[in-house]
Amino acid sequence: MITRRDLIARGAVGALALTWPEVADAKRLTRTQERALRSAVRGRVLTPGDNGYSGARVVFNTRWDGVKPPAVVQARDTADVRAVVSWADRFDVPLVARSGGHGYSGNSTSSTAVVVDLDRLDTIRFGDGIATLGPGARLGDVYTRLAAKGVTIPAGSCPTVAVGGLVLGGGMGLAGRAFGLTCDRVTSFDVVDADGKRRRVDDGELFWALRGGGGSFAIVTAVRLRTRRVTSAAYFSITYSRAQRAEALARWDAFAPRAPSDLTAILTLTSDGATAFGQYLGSASALRRLVRPLGGTPTVGSADYLTVQRRWAGNQNPPRSAFAASSIYVTKRLTAKGRGAFVAATDTGATLILDAYGGAINRPDRDATAFPHRDARFSVQVISYAPIATARAQVRQARKAIAPYGSGAYFNYADPDLTNATRNYWGANLERLRRVKREVDPGNRFRPTQGVRPAG
Ligand SMILES: Cc1cc2nc3c(=O)[nH]c(=O)nc-3n(C[C@H](O)[C@H](O)[C@H](O)COP(=O)(O)OP(=O)(O)OC[C@H]3O[C@@H](n4cnc5c(N)ncnc54)[C@H](O)[C@@H]3O)c2cc1C
Repeated sequence: MITRRDLIARGAVGALALTWPEVADAKRLTRTQERALRSAVRGRVLTPGDNGYSGARVVFNTRWDGVKPPAVVQARDTADVRAVVSWADRFDVPLVARSGGHGYSGNSTSSTAVVVDLDRLDTIRFGDGIATLGPGARLGDVYTRLAAKGVTIPAGSCPTVAVGGLVLGGGMGLAGRAFGLTCDRVTSFDVVDADGKRRRVDDGELFWALRGGGGSFAIVTAVRLRTRRVTSAAYFSITYSRAQRAEALARWDAFAPRAPSDLTAILTLTSDGATAFGQYLGSASALRRLVRPLGGTPTVGSADYLTVQRRWAGNQNPPRSAFAASSIYVTKRLTAKGRGAFVAATDTGATLILDAYGGAINRPDRDATAFPHRDARFSVQVISYAPIATARAQVRQARKAIAPYGSGAYFNYADPDLTNATRNYWGANLERLRRVKREVDPGNRFRPTQGVRPAG
């Protein structure tokens, strides 16, 4: 095995910095801390050197494979979560929660905080119109189980994203304009707070903060959401050539953010061309008429709701991969110059994915929940799967090219390279979030990357 020391000796450290995933050595627990942790919980505790540690510590984005937390605790239940929080309080160790590990920025791993892994808290129950979900429940399973009851919740399209991180950051998907963000459907959370107490949260400042403010406030052990009845959906897609990109963007920008709210449309722009696609809670024939303003030759169809969700998901078990990503929000219709900048941005090699807002997403006021981007026409995700150093450069360059036409960023597309990240994620809601943090976690026990710090 070639070690870092070997590479330094060969003068190859520059290359290492360019090609290696972000590497950070584990801060180790003391023997006393480790012993106390192992005896406090029933779930597995994995520390560096343990069998299974390497598999337990990694997250979806392989960019973070070099990050080695001091320990990963695979919580079995809420009692385990409470035990870890009390243990952390006793030894003053920071914690970070993980549900599905899909946070873009590696924000559910850490080289200094102990990871509380909630993957096993994955229950999915339904009754009286309410879905009760464990944070570790994966979206593919949630859609499947709820479809059997003829209901759904609005959420993302990746089947292995977990409810925990998704709902805490907002939760945007192809039913978004019809039913709102995932966080808008929440009636209550069960959490373990920084004092290690179990609480039901359905009102007040903590409830406000948990709907869009991320994982800095408490560890969520269950979430209840109002479901919507749904049986089928229609879908469409239109592809455009490289030469048609600016026109496709003009048509989509004029149409998608103001379309009837039963339609949620997305536009992807690459250096090769563009694709518009989306979901409509109505008939295929109505959808075909509706998307006429987008031009092109639409492919339109319809199916039962679950089949359509599986169509969006593609691979039901997507492999882990390395990528760099960022995001920005656009609140005004783009000018011709703006559209030119968007098209030019894709020539960096990065892909732009535009999610139409409006409809139910924009109905709540900016300060109704911690998620602040209620006046957006659309979000832009900037993403690249090139080797990571190249991907970072492409994403940075592409975001810079479109930055004059937007502001802010989506916390669920967290970008570790973003300056002023928390202001971008939470805008004018940031100060209130800091005050809530001071109230509920003044010692900053819960410490995800780019999380909210206590006020003062
Ligand atoms: C392939 C892919 C597709 C995606 N598609 C969409 C999409 O369509 N729409 C969308 O909105 N987003 C999408 N996302 C982004 C996704 O919503 C976020 O990355 C989300 O945070 C992932 O949740 P998780 O629980 O899987 O991640 P994790 O990495 O486990 O957690 C993310 C953050 O939330 C915190 N957290 C997680 N669980 C808890 C908990 N129980 N209590 C307290 N804090 C917690 C973590 O500490 C971390 O800071 C996608 C991501 C990927 C990788």
